[in-house]
Parts: sequence; structure tokens; C-alpha cells
Amino acid sequence: MGAFYAKLGAAPRSGAPLSDDAHRLTALRRRLVEVEASLRAELADEAGLSDTVGLDQSAMGRVSRVDALQAQQMAQATQRRAAARLERVLAALERFDADPEAYPDCPDCGESIGWGRLLAVPESVFCVGCLQARGR
Ligand SMILES: [Zn+2]
Repeated sequence: MGAFYAKLGAAPRSGAPLSDDAHRLTALRRRLVEVEASLRAELADEAGLSDTVGLDQSAMGRVSRVDALQAQQMAQATQRRAAARLERVLAALERFDADPEAYPDCPDCGESIGWGRLLAVPESVFCVGCLQARGR
């Protein structure tokens, strides 16, 4: 965090207000950390659910067992999505800490990704236009 503020030129002037961009970057990093924490919590929950289904199988009838397996498969799909997003969020935090000022810029076109999009999807790498051009 020290390097972050030093880079933005805000830390040495004690009492000086942060610029709008510095405020936004601070909020954005906090958002990334929040998303990381909620994904980790989600992954911990799903792991617990899988254990429960495994242990209770013998006590269930056939139909409820099918339901439980379907629920487990859905939970596993959710877990895979959460794990994949967690990887993107961790990579985003690394990119952020390496160069906070460059973080809001799209690496393809160099334009700003836009704060609205970054606050909605803080781990965004590309702007919407470049994302569509990549067919994702
Ligand atoms: Zn772009």
C-alpha cells in the first residue's frame, strides 16, 4: 500500500486530499479484496456441501440421492466458476499492485476500461470493445 500511494504522489503531502482517481483506485482495490474474500468463503462452503452429500448417501432413498447428486454437480460447477474467478481476481490484485495507475487501462487499445465496468467487474482486463473483438 505504501508504494501505491507513493506512486500516486499522495502519501508525502500529509493532509492533502487524494485525487478522484486515487480514491477510485483505493475503492477498486478494496473491491478486489472483498470479491477475493467472498469467493474464498463460497469455495469453503461448497467443499463442506460435497462432504455432506458423500456421507449421507447410504441413508437416502434413490430419488433423493439423484437429487443430491444433481445438487452436488451444480455445486461443483459453481465451485469451478468461483475457483476460476478467484484466479482472475488474484491475478488482478498482482497487476494492480505492480502498477496501480496502469490498472484501469485496457492493454489492447490503451483506453480506460471505465470505472463503471471496473466497479461492477473489478478483475476486468480488457475494455468492453476489445472483449467483444476477442469473441468472449
Ligand atoms: Zn480495449
